[in-house]
Amino acid sequence: MTDDSSRETPGGADAVSEALRILTQINEVSKKLNSTLELSQIIKHTIQELPMLLNAGKCSIFLYDAETEELVMAAHNHYDLDKNMDLRISIHSNRLIARAVQGGKSILIRDIEKEFGLKNRSKYASKSSMITVLKSGDQLLGIINVNDKLDGTDFTDSDFSIVLNINEHLATAISNASLFAQTRRLSITDGLTELYTHRYFQETLDREATRSHRYKSALSLMMLDIDHFKKVNDTYGHQAGDAVLQEVARLLRTLLRRTDYACRYGGEEFAVILTDTPLENSVISAERVRRAVEEKVILFGEQTIRVTVSIGLSGCEPTTTKADIIEAADRALYRAKRAGRNCIRRADVAD
Ligand code: GH3
Ligand code: MG
Ligand code: MG
Repeated sequence: MTDDSSRETPGGADAVSEALRILTQINEVSKKLNSTLELSQIIKHTIQELPMLLNAGKCSIFLYDAETEELVMAAHNHYDLDKNMDLRISIHSNRLIARAVQGGKSILIRDIEKEFGLKNRSKYASKSSMITVLKSGDQLLGIINVNDKLDGTDFTDSDFSIVLNINEHLATAISNASLFAQTRRLSITDGLTELYTHRYFQETLDREATRSHRYKSALSLMMLDIDHFKKVNDTYGHQAGDAVLQEVARLLRTLLRRTDYACRYGGEEFAVILTDTPLENSVISAERVRRAVEEKVILFGEQTIRVTVSIGLSGCEPTTTKADIIEAADRALYRAKRAGRNCIRRADVAD
């Protein structure tokens, strides 16, 4: 009888324990990727682990921007590449990438000089390279690129299986994260105006008021109500009213800063949280909005509609609560209405 023990474990016990080590590591990466729905965290975990798993000097992850048909660098471990962190590559321009992406297949290249006629970078220990394609169904999500095997050998089939395995986990994690982000976006967005919802307004004002108290940063609130809006509905119909709401919302979005939160408070009322803005400065934003609405001619079918808005402003003092801020802006808004509409009133300035 022959001794079969070495045949049962091709490569011997060392190979088995090496395979087990790799499996355990892949399992660890997968657990980490599943532990968060934050895209940046997912990418960070992967770029930390992958180079070690593959003994690779250069790894990078690119995410696909479908609008421009470019792959955008999301993370890399090339310390000399920091300045290129926002590197964008057209999927059509790079031969290597085009082959993988357009063929929809991950590729293992033993020698990029022989197979692609590309010059190997002098800094790279090996001419071998791997590109795997991150996909969700038929949808391209990005790629992983692995280069520069540090011991100077080619990447093996086993290395390729490892990166393919990680690629699968990463693709799943990326699609889960983007689905989560999309659901979250929808849940905080008002369907008609695409502004933030009332609930998100309450949450944000709570958070920003706390931040303002803690860091003594300025904060103001703009409450805005369309004048005689009922008349718009009565004269032109409810759909025309909806179009007016959308147009006022669009003006708010375009006129305010990215750090301001424009929300639909309810009906034809809007609330804008102006971060890092003292009450006296909020008047500038408010006047910009008031004037833009007054000047806007809204087209609805054959009709041209014009509306105005009244605005109340309040600020956050060290002792004011969220409810105080809202109430003060509301009272200022009421004064603006009483003063004849199409004007602005400040909570801290008497008429
Ligand atoms: P004021 O100048 O005092 O604010 O008068 P107003 O007519 O704007 O105020 P009022 O509160 O009496 O009317 C608000 C109207 O807004 C009544 C309601 O039917 C209308 N409205 C609320 N939500 C919507 C909506 O989503 N679409 C449309 N078309 N109308 C809405
Ligand atoms: Mg109104
Ligand atoms: Mg109203």
